[in-house]
Amino acid sequence: MKKRAVLSSLLSLILCGTAMADVTLQGKMEQGALIRAKTTPGTQVFLNDNPIKVTPQGEFAFGFEREAELTQQLKLVYPDGLTQIKPLTIAQKQYKIDRVNGIAKKIMKPAPKAVERAARDSKQVKAARNHFSEQTAFAQDFIWPLTGRISGVYGSQRVYNGKPGNPHYGVDVAAKTGTIVVAPADGVISLSVADMFYSGGTMIIDHGYGVSSSFLHLSKLYVKEGDTVKQGQAVAEVGATGRATGPHLDWRINWYQMRLDPVTIVPSMASVLKQK
Ligand SMILES: [Zn+2]
Repeated sequence: MKKRAVLSSLLSLILCGTAMADVTLQGKMEQGALIRAKTTPGTQVFLNDNPIKVTPQGEFAFGFEREAELTQQLKLVYPDGLTQIKPLTIAQKQYKIDRVNGIAKKIMKPAPKAVERAARDSKQVKAARNHFSEQTAFAQDFIWPLTGRISGVYGSQRVYNGKPGNPHYGVDVAAKTGTIVVAPADGVISLSVADMFYSGGTMIIDHGYGVSSSFLHLSKLYVKEGDTVKQGQAVAEVGATGRATGPHLDWRINWYQMRLDPVTIVPSMASVLKQK
């Protein structure tokens, strides 16, 4: 009888330990994906040994960059001291590569003044993406900021005269200048600039814990830095400002400086358009 009592208390201890080791990952295990996760409040989380900030409710986010290593590791140290190592297997993505030859020299090399301005813009954008805030909007179900034909995809790259250009990090949605852009999730405006050199009217919404949305080539910005926005709220209008070939919205998702594919966190455009 006594032996059985010891055994059962031991068993409940093990079960209790197992119950505490609990993490759910939401997202696609592929290059470019943003992963949202939930675990026991008070758990410490490490991605490849780097600590990740966790909300008091146990929520956190992380990403796999465009060329992310295909095997990574999540380590969770639960409040009861139990450590769990969770290996992550990431699918490799094929990106669209376009070779463009015979580009004029002046497009290849912008004027020194433009280079200077673009460098200043880039510094400002990087600072906004690095911003940490304790909002938990990143865990919401994101919506498309605009629906329509997708005219550009994440990860695609142009090779100009044999020289690879920067990959395209957004998803482009074609729309007329003046079409309303809404906030894909709640957040706080961390950048709102009317005329950046490459990206024209540029806005960043901070969704908390390193997750932010960028919007490029806007013609009008309705909100300013520090403003709080709600999911679905009109924040800007589509444009063709900066270096854009035509009016469209370029939407990007960032996890700090890591650029991720927005389509990994919203329902497919085809399914959304069908519901309309
Ligand atoms: Zn674009």
